[in-house]
Amino acid sequence: EPVQGDSQHPFFARQMRVVREHSGKVDPERIEDYIALGGYQALHKVLYEMTPETVVQEVSSSGLRGRGGGGYPTGLKWATVAKMPGDQKYVICNGDEGDPGAFMDRSILESDPHLVLEGMAIAGYAIGATHGYIYVRAEYPLAIKRLQKAIQQGKKYGILGSQVFNSPFDFKVDIRIGAGAFVCGEETALIQSIEGGRGNPIPRPPYPAEKGLWQCPTLINNVETFANIANIIKRGAEWYSSIGTEKSKGTKIFALTGKIRNNGLIEVPMGITLREIVEEMGGGVPDGEVKAVQTGGPSGGCIPASLLDTTVDYDSLIKIGSMMGSGGMVVMDKETSMVEVARFYMEFCRGETCGKCVPCRTGTVQLYSFLTKILKGQATAEDIEKMEALCYMVKDTSLCGLGMTAPNPVLSTLRYFKEEYLELLKQPQNGKVPV
Ligand code: SF4
Repeated sequence: EPVQGDSQHPFFARQMRVVREHSGKVDPERIEDYIALGGYQALHKVLYEMTPETVVQEVSSSGLRGRGGGGYPTGLKWATVAKMPGDQKYVICNGDEGDPGAFMDRSILESDPHLVLEGMAIAGYAIGATHGYIYVRAEYPLAIKRLQKAIQQGKKYGILGSQVFNSPFDFKVDIRIGAGAFVCGEETALIQSIEGGRGNPIPRPPYPAEKGLWQCPTLINNVETFANIANIIKRGAEWYSSIGTEKSKGTKIFALTGKIRNNGLIEVPMGITLREIVEEMGGGVPDGEVKAVQTGGPSGGCIPASLLDTTVDYDSLIKIGSMMGSGGMVVMDKETSMVEVARFYMEFCRGETCGKCVPCRTGTVQLYSFLTKILKGQATAEDIEKMEALCYMVKDTSLCGLGMTAPNPVLSTLRYFKEEYLELLKQPQNGKVPV
């Protein structure tokens, strides 16, 4: 059992804390604690020693990619918004974390809220925005309370609001509370929600970088992405890009959970293998063997134990049919039914679809029905074929990421655990499969 403070235990020893370096060390309700550990130095540095262009350049050179799931290069996104004409631009921090079992962003906001605010202010300076919104789900009341306090303290110290650090740069931050719809994590739905509308995704382009909040150029990054920024500025892009793999730089926080001895939040360098995480840090499955690991929540896939030597980085995980996602990592043992797992995630998506487009609205319901039929032992081989075809149809024709990725748990379990589906098919009677 890893005990807090036992730095020799692999659960702690294999971690690399960049984003979470202050977590547990600072009192999140005291800005003085954050400042004492070098907090807000990066913001001061950009205002007095760097131009907006050099800040964007530094973030680009660091190789940081969006931690919300897609892995889009952060510097490129910043550069796109920075180049857009117009006096009014916005910064949005997406704190609408919703994957089942994932609580990385919640932990950052609760334990070190100033780190996120500092990243947002630096982004505001870099892209030419004076107003930021942080969108947090209502289920995170402690995070909201600490953010409110942090914003008040920032204003009191002249670090947020008018003339930040006595410079000509103004930056204010408002909190918006989401009502708990998973789809509001999708950037266009989140923008609608901030504007007071129903959180429905809209077709892109135009992307928020061009026409976002109130039709103005808008930069959206998630909590963990903003939480990396201060360190990149303070320690430099070269230092940051020395961590990780060629195309996935820095560290990533995962919520390690499921049938595993040591669970909890871990921050690891990109490029570590799934085996190192699951077997060394996690201590493996108690009294059993690993069967699969699910990464990426309802958008990701189930990775079989035979692929545990895969490195954890954006591209390797996509290659094997899963994805990084925001950081959920669920370990399953030999007792787990993979068809049940696929149905669990489909049930989640069926409940969270916003209903705007047909493939996702009806496709998730139909896929859930197929999986239930299979689990009841009432399906035929033809049903599995139809279900697989429907998965591709939903992926190809849905409007937003929720629908596009909802079939992934089904497709990955079909790819790696098809025998479990086949074992559940209707048994032939008198040589014929009953209809
Ligand atoms: Fe809504 Fe699903 Fe269509 Fe996205 S894919 S817009 S969640 S119905």
